[in-house]
Amino acid sequence: MADKGPFARPRILMVSSEASPWAKSGGLADVLGALPPALARLGHAVGVVLPRYMGARSAPARRVIDSVIIGLGSRLFDVSVWEMESGGVRMFFVDEPSLYERDGLYGGPTGDFSDNHIRFALLSKAAIEISRRLFRADVFHCHDWQASLVPVYLREWPAIDPQLLGARTVLTIHNLGYQGIFDAPALRDISLPQRLFTPAALEFWGRINLLKGGIVFSDALTTVSRKYAEEIQTAEYGFGLDGLLRSRSGALTGILNGADYSRWDPEFDPLIPARYSAENLAGKAECKRALLAEAGLPEAAQERPLMGIVSRFTSQKGFDLIADAAWQIFEDDVYLVALGNGEPAWEDLFRNLQQAFPGKVSVTFGYNEAMSHRIEAGADMFLMPSRYEPCGLNQIYSLRYGTPPVVRATGGLDDTIDETTGFKFSDYNGTALLEAIRAACRKWEDHAGWRKMMVTGMRRDFSWTASATEYSRLYDALHPAGA
Ligand code: ADP
Repeated sequence: MADKGPFARPRILMVSSEASPWAKSGGLADVLGALPPALARLGHAVGVVLPRYMGARSAPARRVIDSVIIGLGSRLFDVSVWEMESGGVRMFFVDEPSLYERDGLYGGPTGDFSDNHIRFALLSKAAIEISRRLFRADVFHCHDWQASLVPVYLREWPAIDPQLLGARTVLTIHNLGYQGIFDAPALRDISLPQRLFTPAALEFWGRINLLKGGIVFSDALTTVSRKYAEEIQTAEYGFGLDGLLRSRSGALTGILNGADYSRWDPEFDPLIPARYSAENLAGKAECKRALLAEAGLPEAAQERPLMGIVSRFTSQKGFDLIADAAWQIFEDDVYLVALGNGEPAWEDLFRNLQQAFPGKVSVTFGYNEAMSHRIEAGADMFLMPSRYEPCGLNQIYSLRYGTPPVVRATGGLDDTIDETTGFKFSDYNGTALLEAIRAACRKWEDHAGWRKMMVTGMRRDFSWTASATEYSRLYDALHPAGA
């Protein structure tokens, strides 16, 4: 077969509910901000389909479809599509104010929006329309449950447009803990036939599970680390889908996320008080001093280990282990700066820690990008005791910031950290965490050894190029160029 050059590479249309900088609640947005441009650099034509949320309304996009009618259940939506170019990628924003012009991405203070199945079914149908009218996709790359209906709709109506017949689908599972589960009548709201209400398709314990639909109907499945790809096939980590995932293990691979070093590198980071690098670490002490002051912790802590946390506060992240071992952890002369928000019970846990250990533990509640950089730079070590962690980005950032991570050996944490760059523990209990923290503190006292560990981590490369190359190979295998 003649080499058709880079322009013969499969055309990729990503479908996602988040993408930095327009809509972010976690790591998914970072992936969608960085992977598409990296794929474009490898020669793929790449588009990204995203809802036109409040946060995306200020994007300098132009309207490219004034009106397309999309039916869902008994409702008709008159949708428009906006487009802009960003980093060599075509961004498409699906505009339906009645569904997307809200304060939160998925819910408000009282919980998830009750029409999320409709909101993301519309996104999926709109993505198919975009492929028909604006950007012919060879591969639809769908992310998480919010985009999982794309493969289902394509399988249900292969003949709506001959152009769609050859399209392939990839589903990436960023976090199996979120599956998009709704009561059975929701099937009608999203225009799917009753015959899909079976355990072989979308049914899940009497309800419907959109992620399950994606897993059943996609051509290829990926998740965001090799270890997590193995773990989700076990009962312990499978959230009830391990059997299905085992049955599809031949289609499932793990591809580690990369870090966006244009935003996360202490040598160039405008958000930290002093810059530093593996060659010149001096600025890090200044970052620590400033962080202690900002957090209201004593100046004397400059000479003691300072641990950092930046996280969503949810059960996934394993903070109950800190609570379990708190009295022993903080009986030593160590300090903790935490930033995060999330579920009330977990926010309370951090509030209690702060009260129990004043002057040692400082917690900031909220989502604060700039402060997250200041913690990565100013802390000595970074804590991620996760119960499970599909990939995790903060430990990868920590490596680059010379802040050795203390992690539980699960998912991407296990894949990215080794004994030369950080501290791992396996058992899910407070004692195991305590031992890992104590090992880190002992190492911290050994200045030369600690510096060596910092520098080793800072020189590790988890940039997107390697991950993008793996995705590119997967697309090529699904849809060989020129085929
Ligand atoms: P997850 O996707 O499970 O939340 P990751 O480690 O993969 O975890 O990604 C989390 C991303 O969100 C990182 O970029 C992290 O810095 C950011 N983040 C999480 N919580 C906060 C917060 N409270 N303030 C600022 N950034 C946060």
